[in-house]
Amino acid sequence: MDARLAEEARRQLVARGVDVRLSARVETIDAEGVVFGGERIAARTVLWAAGVRASPLAEMLGAPLERGRVRVEPDLSIPGHPEVFVVGDMAALQQDGAWLPGVAQVALQGGHQAARNLLRRQAGAPTEPFHYRDKGSMATIGRSAAVAEVGRLRTTGIFAWVLWWLVHIVALIGFRNRVVVMLEWIWAYLSWQRSARVIVTQPALPAAEEPGDGARGSP
Ligand SMILES: Cc1cc2nc3c(=O)[nH]c(=O)nc-3n(C[C@H](O)[C@H](O)[C@H](O)COP(=O)(O)OP(=O)(O)OC[C@H]3O[C@@H](n4cnc5c(N)ncnc54)[C@H](O)[C@@H]3O)c2cc1C
Repeated sequence: MDARLAEEARRQLVARGVDVRLSARVETIDAEGVVFGGERIAARTVLWAAGVRASPLAEMLGAPLERGRVRVEPDLSIPGHPEVFVVGDMAALQQDGAWLPGVAQVALQGGHQAARNLLRRQAGAPTEPFHYRDKGSMATIGRSAAVAEVGRLRTTGIFAWVLWWLVHIVALIGFRNRVVVMLEWIWAYLSWQRSARVIVTQPALPAAEEPGDGARGSP
């Protein structure tokens, strides 16, 4: 994202009490916590949000790989197999000198292109190269906080958050889903509650050790 938006995202996270450490590579995660840059942060719960590997299915295809992803031809077919198409996170394709990112829009647009190419092959016409159209990037940070870049527009705060909200509602399939999700989000916003909660049962503690600080109940 735009450097100013990245800095604004960092600022909004810090304002929410998040300790942001940039350019720090995680070295170890174990039962005692996480180690990076030689420093250990003790924790029983560590959440990993830095990306995942492509499906092992890619390796089974016997096609050339780029960091676990299948290097596809410009029309999204596998080299030597014009009848097999790979799209989305599992496909590796360069555009304007850079690898296409593993994001939903690349997968959606690639899916449409692969379908068009299948129909073209069926009709005996040559396939077309895939050209990804970047519609912009958005990231939600928290309540009334987000960053968004769409075309030349760079925006932050509640406006970016409402934009994120609208785009994700519109992208849902079916009118009913859109209405249900919209009502759930409005309710969550007004009530400060989430519609889904994980209930973790705890073994009963002896009366003397019963925590009195609200540790039981909602996580
Ligand atoms: C935590 C996280 C947050 C993300 N946030 C965003 C975001 O904000 N915006 C954004 O644009 N993108 C985001 N992404 C990326 C986005 O989810 C992916 O780019 C997108 O889902 C790719 O779509 P896909 O169809 O290629 O793969 P997937 O959505 O992963 O679908 C692949 C499907 O294939 C199935 N599958 C795998 N192997 C097999 C097999 N052998 N046989 C049968 N089925 C199989 C899987 O179970 C899965 O259902 C995020 C990803 C993660 C992990």
